Amino acid sequence: MTGGWPQEVARIRARISGRVQGVGFRPAIYRHAVSCGLRGFVRNDPAGVTLEVEGSRDDLNLFFSTLEQRLPRQAVVTEVTREELPPQGSTRFEVVVSEAAGPVTVQLPPDLATCEACLAELRSPDNRRYRYPFTNCTDCGPRFTIIRELPYDRANTSMNRFRLCAACAREYQDPADRRFHAEPNACPVCGPRLRLLEKGGECLAEGEAALQEAQALLRQGQIVAVKGLGGYHLACDAFAAEAVGRLRQRKQRPHKTLAVMLRDLTTVLRYFQPCPEELQELLSPARPIVVLDGVLSPAVSPDTRDTGVFLPYTPLHHLLLEEFEALVMTSGNRLEEPIAQDEPQALRLLEQGIAEAVLAHDRPVLHRCDDSVLRVVEGRRCFLRRSRGFVPGPLRVAADSPVILATGSDLKNTFCLVIRGQAYVSQHIGDLAEHSTYSFFESEVDRWLELFRVTPAVVAHDLHPGYLSSRYASRLDGIPAVAVQHHHAHVAGVLAEQGLEGPVLGIALDGTGYGEDGTVWGGEFLLADRCSFQRLAHFGRYPLPGGEKAIAEPWRMAAAVCLLEGIEWDGPPERSEMVARVLAAGLNCPPSSSAGRLFDAAAALLGLCDEAGYEAQGAIRLEAVVDPTVRRRYSYRVRDDDEAGARKAGGGRPGEGLKHSPDSAPKGRARLFVLDFGPAFAELLADKRRGLPVGEMAAVFHNTVAAGCAEVAARLGEEQGVDQVVLSGGVFQNRCLLSHLTAELRERGLKVYTNTVVPANDGGLSLGQAVVALARWKAGELSCV
Ligand code: ZN
Ligand code: ZN
Ligand code: FE
Repeated sequence: MTGGWPQEVARIRARISGRVQGVGFRPAIYRHAVSCGLRGFVRNDPAGVTLEVEGSRDDLNLFFSTLEQRLPRQAVVTEVTREELPPQGSTRFEVVVSEAAGPVTVQLPPDLATCEACLAELRSPDNRRYRYPFTNCTDCGPRFTIIRELPYDRANTSMNRFRLCAACAREYQDPADRRFHAEPNACPVCGPRLRLLEKGGECLAEGEAALQEAQALLRQGQIVAVKGLGGYHLACDAFAAEAVGRLRQRKQRPHKTLAVMLRDLTTVLRYFQPCPEELQELLSPARPIVVLDGVLSPAVSPDTRDTGVFLPYTPLHHLLLEEFEALVMTSGNRLEEPIAQDEPQALRLLEQGIAEAVLAHDRPVLHRCDDSVLRVVEGRRCFLRRSRGFVPGPLRVAADSPVILATGSDLKNTFCLVIRGQAYVSQHIGDLAEHSTYSFFESEVDRWLELFRVTPAVVAHDLHPGYLSSRYASRLDGIPAVAVQHHHAHVAGVLAEQGLEGPVLGIALDGTGYGEDGTVWGGEFLLADRCSFQRLAHFGRYPLPGGEKAIAEPWRMAAAVCLLEGIEWDGPPERSEMVARVLAAGLNCPPSSSAGRLFDAAAALLGLCDEAGYEAQGAIRLEAVVDPTVRRRYSYRVRDDDEAGARKAGGGRPGEGLKHSPDSAPKGRARLFVLDFGPAFAELLADKRRGLPVGEMAAVFHNTVAAGCAEVAARLGEEQGVDQVVLSGGVFQNRCLLSHLTAELRERGLKVYTNTVVPANDGGLSLGQAVVALARWKAGELSCV
């Protein structure tokens, strides 16, 4: 201590990194420092937050020991470094606003659901924000969806068009206020306004009147397009079966389950029995759609025994739902188009006759973002879609890295950027075959590169040369490109999520992925690390009669399985004859080891799904009828691959194998194992002829697939000396299969890892691709700047 300071006065500088901007961090530090009687300052910088506090040792100790409890709930602290400085005689504590340009490493927050404090204001008649639908604060409100550039400052958001009124400006500038630097801060005087639009863009009502008109339309059973955080929803009263039916018909979505927004927790508990983890997800500031057991109405979930439920996450939702227990809130789009983002796109929904009115507002959406969808399986989070509320939250995949862009899959596309070892997976983009979705993909990639101020040094893409996402990658001139096999990417994603290096045994089950031998893979057992893989076994192959058509029409798979297994077909004979002709001609019958198609075949044989109205409908209906009390299973075979030729070594470069993990070199087996479910189909049809309940046969089928996979995994694990098993691929969205297989593998002493950060489906593929590219770069296989 220096002489001029009588008692134990000290000064400490702390640097804090993580998600510490845009979440009310500085005001929280300010209030805490003042309450501890400390002087000094706090400021944002490109790497996070820096603060210096000065005071007595006791006060400093109190400050740091209680700091964690005083941080805003949205803050995520990844690192705190502290150093002692000589005291400087500061006389007060200040918030220094200085956000220098520089490398952006600070975490950008996702959109946050309305907090309790704002909700209370929304509901108090004497508050100036009473019933104001755009109320927000440093704890809540739009974030990612309104950001144009970093740093996250009002001028760089779509709020820049609204000039703060005097009252709002006071809050914004007062470090003690909970709206200090709440960038989207707004009130009825200065902020965004609601408008109700009809066809042609005519404004029917504004403000509160627009809200009440919209509620009146919904009460009459009409469909209203409602602007949310990341785009438009199509809303209707969830209990008005006729309205729900009309919405389905207009969206050309006859069967797929629709998400419902319930008024509040009490209403959720009236209809559902969520477990503690599900409750936590429902109430989290990300407010995802959580798939819960139970049916609110058959019109909402005709195919399943569950419902996608979520709670209001903007003040506008809270106000709208005052009049309803539940609203269907489905993405405001047509077929595979991206969701409507602005008013012209919403008005097109009126012209197409999909909605009757548009409840709009004038705060632009800069990044389209669909709702996230997840379910809880055995206490763990399983994403079906990771988007609003989670994006652009990063995942650390390495200490450092070059900038890597991974372009993902063509279905359920997301892309991924790795910057300094942090992987940022984009929001859900969708099916790139749809022209407008592909345009969204291209423009969103550009925006992310601008937002993070980076240019990719490496681009990773799927091995499929025909994928639009692969072709996009190959057009990026001068950037080394890494082609990653589809199922390897699925497995590598889990390695990154779990911090594993491998080698592990990866079981990747999905509908379709391009294999190294040019055939369609989809039921794969891989020995994999982050860099490369080797295919050890696969599901028995069946030809897909008619190629793509076999996916849309599961009866084709069923007929093909019967013909090839010599099982008597009990469907219309002309179908079997047709498939027989197609198979005999060998035209457009690509052989496939797809696991998804096996579930299709079983669903079709059980009369559950002849033609799929949406992706995986057969599998979803098959799972929905499962009788969970049934333990029995059918037979399967594990045999050597009868195709000519030995195993192929992997990693996209034949012959190399897992060269980075020499200890796990494949042990003497010349051929791949094949897991063959032919016998199961014969027994299933015999059961059907005996008239057994569908729920029993569906259960036995699931048990069989789980048992077969577990047996092969155990054999391969022993052979390769590996006890870590990774499960990934879209088929693992099947909860019944996932829990059965997990239990079977654990019984055999194997450790099981699954996706919890990104979806197991192709929405998680970009992360896996990025991780493989990073590993190959680290191994010196790529040269880049
Ligand atoms: Zn708030
Ligand atoms: Zn204002
Ligand atoms: Fe896949």
